[in-house]
Amino acid sequence: MPTAKAKTASAKSAKPAAVEHKNFIGGKWVASATGQTFENRNPADTREVVGTFQKSDKRDVNKAVAAAAEAFKSWRLVPAPKRAEIIFKVGERLIHYKDQFARDMTREMGKVLKETQGDVHEAIDMSYYMAGEGRRQFGHTTPSELRNKFQMSVRQPLGVCAMITPWNFPMAIPSWKIMPALVLGNTVVIKPATDTPLSVVNFVSVLHECGIPDGVVNMVTGSGREVGEPLINHPDVKLVSFTGSTEVGRSVSALCGPSFKHSCLEMGGKNAQMVMDDADIDLAVDGALWGGFGTTGQHCTATSRVIIHKKVYKKFVDAYIERARRLKVGNGLDASVDMGPAVSESQLRTVEQYVQIGTKEDGAKLLCGGHRLTEGDLKYGFFHEPTVFGDVAPDMRLATEEIFGPVVSLIPVDSFEQAIEVCNSVIYGLSASIYTRDINRAFVAMRDVYTGIFYINAPTIGAEVHLPFGGTKATGNGHREAGQAALDVFSEWKAVYVDYSGVLQKAQIDA
Ligand code: NAD
Repeated sequence: MPTAKAKTASAKSAKPAAVEHKNFIGGKWVASATGQTFENRNPADTREVVGTFQKSDKRDVNKAVAAAAEAFKSWRLVPAPKRAEIIFKVGERLIHYKDQFARDMTREMGKVLKETQGDVHEAIDMSYYMAGEGRRQFGHTTPSELRNKFQMSVRQPLGVCAMITPWNFPMAIPSWKIMPALVLGNTVVIKPATDTPLSVVNFVSVLHECGIPDGVVNMVTGSGREVGEPLINHPDVKLVSFTGSTEVGRSVSALCGPSFKHSCLEMGGKNAQMVMDDADIDLAVDGALWGGFGTTGQHCTATSRVIIHKKVYKKFVDAYIERARRLKVGNGLDASVDMGPAVSESQLRTVEQYVQIGTKEDGAKLLCGGHRLTEGDLKYGFFHEPTVFGDVAPDMRLATEEIFGPVVSLIPVDSFEQAIEVCNSVIYGLSASIYTRDINRAFVAMRDVYTGIFYINAPTIGAEVHLPFGGTKATGNGHREAGQAALDVFSEWKAVYVDYSGVLQKAQIDA
């Protein structure tokens, strides 16, 4: 763990004293060159300071990249199964720390404990999955068109990989990036979101504890402008793996373009659940509640639109509203709570603005929620009611723009074909789902919905680590995280030809 002070604090329950966390560079916990820190407060109760973190700048980035570049020289030569042993051990230790890290995560970003436990668990799953890649990373062998010639393709690491991560999955997303990068022999500099640095401090401290060599993983905390941009622009960084908003992703892409730096961008979403006239309505309601209000609607794959066949619209809406009104909102550490706060004041303000936009949109009806919650201790946090708009038209701002909060738009449609059209009509393409008992329709939807992830009779959330994760259109730039797809992001192919004929053989000419 990072410091003795942190250990003592995390062992205490309820409200530990705020700990100052350092950057992790070259295997050491170090203060920023600026000498400044920033506070991270609990969004469920802003009276609690979760920790203070280094307000770093370009000088810290330069040190971290230099450490990662130096470490790459030896790390790339460590046999992959040996690298994987460390990664496997990280999975084991994360199990040990799971409850503590989940509590820290709930305190720093608000989602309820069972979801933060799931977040840590995803990092455990990813560790085990990528540890297996230590003995795979398969390439191809293939016959040559010439005699006495052998050929194969092998993966090679890129070098220093920069990682810029968001706050909504503060340990899972860093693990999606760090674990494949490491097993393939790359080194890492990660900049966590300013709202959730503690979960990355926890993750990196476990890597350190498990014996990751000095400089192989480095972490620098601070803002997008002061840390993110210098990291992206650093000439020794070979790849930028970014997850966040489409707006920032576009600027990351522009910064990487001139030097042809690789960039893997995972960005916004406006995910839809389609409910057909033959659907199991209770199941569809369960799915849209979990997808719409889980993580306070702050999943990148959150169900922010539900597209419902008019024949079952009323039945669905009545059941959905009744259940949404019953969701208990509060501090995510309380096991009886269904939905925690928004991550920050600004995220809460965005939600409030969209409620205003929705109430002004011609025809949309506010069916439940719509207000900030301020009774009792809730006034110390960023709480908002689960909010549902009905009769939303597919082209309204409510139905097309990413809100990233507990606001769900219900869109009535006349047919299955129209549902697909509406589903595909937004600029994003992350996740979608359909509830139907008709196998033919399910397969047509599976083929025609243009997203990176698709579910049948399940909500738009719930990805597993061994399948590719990511989206089409303004959600991504053609790459995928997780699964085998992640290996393609963090390695480059090399084709190797071995001629053992002893004579000059010319491909395409002598063949
Ligand atoms: P954000 O774009 O504001 O920030 C993401 C990261 O980029 C943070 O670490 C931030 O500090 C950094 N950053 C901000 N400005 C920067 C700049 N100019 N240069 C370099 N770095 C900069 O996003 P957020 O609010 O943290 O997260 C929410 C967004 O992330 C939503 O749009 C959501 O859909 C998206 N998201 C997408 C996925 C996915 O896999 N597609 C997963 C999770 C979240």
